[in-house]
Amino acid sequence: MSERTIHLDADPGDWRCRKIRVRPTRWYATVELDRDGYVDAASRRGHAAELPTLYSDAVEKVRGAAADRLWYDGFPGGFVWSSGSRWVALSVPYAEVEAAVEALRVAELDHDYSGLEALACRLALPVDDWLAPGERELVRGVDFHSPPGVFLRFLRGKAKRSGLRLNGRATAGSVWVRPTLPPAQKELREKLPGRYPGWVDRWSGHVASDDAPFRPWVGGRDQDLSCRATPVRFRTVLPPVGSDCRCGMSLKEDWNSGREHADHHAAWTFGVRVAKNLGWLGDLAVVTTQSPIAWRKLAYKVARMPQKENHYDFRSWSHIGEPEETEDNVRAYLLKANGHVIGYLAARDTGHHRPWDLVDDSPYGDADDTLRPQISLVWVAGAYRRQRVGATLVKALADDFGSSVAEVSWSTPISESGTQLARRLSPEGIWVS
Ligand SMILES: [Zn+2]
Repeated sequence: MSERTIHLDADPGDWRCRKIRVRPTRWYATVELDRDGYVDAASRRGHAAELPTLYSDAVEKVRGAAADRLWYDGFPGGFVWSSGSRWVALSVPYAEVEAAVEALRVAELDHDYSGLEALACRLALPVDDWLAPGERELVRGVDFHSPPGVFLRFLRGKAKRSGLRLNGRATAGSVWVRPTLPPAQKELREKLPGRYPGWVDRWSGHVASDDAPFRPWVGGRDQDLSCRATPVRFRTVLPPVGSDCRCGMSLKEDWNSGREHADHHAAWTFGVRVAKNLGWLGDLAVVTTQSPIAWRKLAYKVARMPQKENHYDFRSWSHIGEPEETEDNVRAYLLKANGHVIGYLAARDTGHHRPWDLVDDSPYGDADDTLRPQISLVWVAGAYRRQRVGATLVKALADDFGSSVAEVSWSTPISESGTQLARRLSPEGIWVS
């Protein structure tokens, strides 16, 4: 079909002449009534050239029905129509081009919209019948004409717009469908009738009759296992929100449905994943403020775990800039297991200590200025607690410094779990700083 123009007024050369243009595209033809000059001329004379409501309503009907028909035929795109009275464009199947031209012509010249109405009727599809409740087999050539896969895709789109879930499957020559209405969609539509005018629930109360067809196995895995099932019931309970998880994150669902918490919680439980290209020569790595950046970043990542868990304002590792020497030899001990850092001890050296006998409320002893390694923080991944990982880290710190475990100093305030660890390692008493 070639492009052509039909003039509606007597003098086709006149700029005010209304014309209908037919333009073919790959999937359909556009039939466009051009009233641009006509509207200009009318408004110059002070006349309104708006489309009467009956006219624009009929145009809308044709547009909606034609769009459905083209999607049903497999057209994968969308449509954009200009509003207003200067151009009236219809996208129609090729078979309806002549009817569309004629319908627009009589609507424009004779104010007779029956042609448009009839066209809309002819294009309309029995979507309501297709989406009726119950299990059904729609047969190609009888109930519909598009290829079954195309038809099913079209029906799915229609079902979704009606809030329906379509349990559907295409066979070689038919489509099996069972539209159901999820309770949430029903509730939504009943709560907002203004947004869904004319909506009626035909699905919730549907009871399959005894002679309803039974869907044979037509591919797919669990397709018939939900047939005639009763829906899951929901109850309202007080959800455990507002409190914190053991990992330190809030249990309240965040904006990305708890994804961030899930990721963090996994790291808190099993440790922080170690990149494969980081060459570990043993199980324990001593990271200093002069180590390669990948190591210092790993320490920084692990330090987030105790920070979150204990709600500290600062991370116990912050050296992720240029390598730099620190006066007090700041370092981190990272213990690896199963490809993850499962234990972390942040340490530095200091010469300000007091002895403590580990008895609750007992005062600290006299100041001592021997240089000792000081534990700033010990953290063990959730799944590895109570397995002497913390003790291993403290021993490593002592060995690394060349002292005994009893010489290690603990930074105050010591947490409850820290005190327990200290009692296990040096029951006679410890140094605090
Ligand atoms: Zn958690």
